[in-house]
Amino acid sequence: MAEPISALITVGDMLVAGAEEVSAACWKCNHHWRVPVSVLPQETTLATLQSLVKCPTCGNDSVAVEPAWPRDEATLQ
Ligand SMILES: [Zn+2]
Repeated sequence: MAEPISALITVGDMLVAGAEEVSAACWKCNHHWRVPVSVLPQETTLATLQSLVKCPTCGNDSVAVEPAWPRDEATLQ
């Protein structure tokens, strides 16, 4: 569970695997939300994405992101 995510995963990799969003979590206020990635260039890495995302609640930019793999989706089927 605590494995470090690969910062080199790209948006393209995620889309191929069916993950069209990342789960983002703010270290500061513990806010969790989803960020759609399908609008971003496919070569965008998770590391780049993480540097772009800001917490919508407190404005903190120290945010953890990880791909929202399809197994997390309960609404499919
Ligand atoms: Zn926050």
